[in-house]
Amino acid sequence: MNTRDSYFPQAIFGSNESLPRVLIAPQRYIQGPGVIDRVGTYLSLVPAKRAGILISKRGQRADGVRLVDSLKRSGIEYKINTFNGECSIDEIDLHVGELADEGVDCLIAVGGGKCVDAGKCIAWRLDVPVVIVPTLASNDAPCSALSVLYTPEGVMSGAEFFPRSPVLVVVDTAIVANASERYLVAGMGDAMATWYEARACFANPNATTTIGARPTLAACAIGEVCASTLFDEGLAAAEAVAANRVDEPLEKVVEANTLLSGIGFESGGLALAHAIAQSYTAVPVVHANQLHGEMVAMGTLAQLVLESQEEAKRVADFFARVGLPVHLGQLSLSTDDKAALDTAVEVTMAFPSAHNMPMLMTRDVIRDAILNAHELGLAVAKSSGDAAWRKLHA
Ligand SMILES: [Zn+2]
Repeated sequence: MNTRDSYFPQAIFGSNESLPRVLIAPQRYIQGPGVIDRVGTYLSLVPAKRAGILISKRGQRADGVRLVDSLKRSGIEYKINTFNGECSIDEIDLHVGELADEGVDCLIAVGGGKCVDAGKCIAWRLDVPVVIVPTLASNDAPCSALSVLYTPEGVMSGAEFFPRSPVLVVVDTAIVANASERYLVAGMGDAMATWYEARACFANPNATTTIGARPTLAACAIGEVCASTLFDEGLAAAEAVAANRVDEPLEKVVEANTLLSGIGFESGGLALAHAIAQSYTAVPVVHANQLHGEMVAMGTLAQLVLESQEEAKRVADFFARVGLPVHLGQLSLSTDDKAALDTAVEVTMAFPSAHNMPMLMTRDVIRDAILNAHELGLAVAKSSGDAAWRKLHA
């Protein structure tokens, strides 16, 4: 295994009696239609002369062609490495081994959340800056200085932190608009949690953010704008992607899903929503069928039923309108599956961010929250229908 000394932000920020407020963010965030064709120009900011590119086989035939053309026009050499689909230590070691003697001075990760996270781990081990080019707006991974690690089978196994944030995040909204609508909608599920989790952390003086610090007002404000953007523009943005169209609602929601959600979760803190979402990756049937943001959506409803019935209802209505799951059936889970529910409760209980909630978390509280969210979602699906969800899961 290729290792560097691990970086523990908690040891840096958490060593004081009173925790400091800390905000972290990428150095540059660039978003717009066609920006992938200018990555070569943007790399002059890094600066980079020879880039490693981490990208899937499928991506190499599509977005990768334009990225490589852009590098060629800027006279930047490159070495392409094929990402095999999982952000696991095996996968990371493979690429570190292959790139170690290639003399690359930056790593560009092009793809979905797991490719992006693997790219951060590889760049850290190679001691080069990482450039993130997300091709989906389905998750909050691109802007953060941490990666979630999985076993080769895809079960969450830990997280890794980095002292440097991505040097560039380049989001081509035309590429996002041409991806499946389900990805953008899943990203809204992930992003909607941001405000509620940051708010819970802010309200609980004992809560800490992912880097072991206290949230800033800035991160909370970002989370709040993230949620209001989704309520205002989410449906229109989903319609834009369904029509492969880049318009103002899509631009706003891509920014909410990627930049606002990314800074918001990292510097605002996580709470119960992501704890429950991660617990679902330990339930094989859920993990096999659901995207991260879809699991976070159900986690958010569970967190909200503990906090405000009115807000829980408002969010469930929104989720149903855009096609996110609102009850366990839509998450491929049956309430009769006691073993699966037990697993979810146990894993949630062991996930530190669950205990950022202002109230005491016990197994019973978590189980009731999951089941009460399910009941609320069933009622919402009954009154407003499940046409949007069905459309995305046809
Ligand atoms: Zn997330």
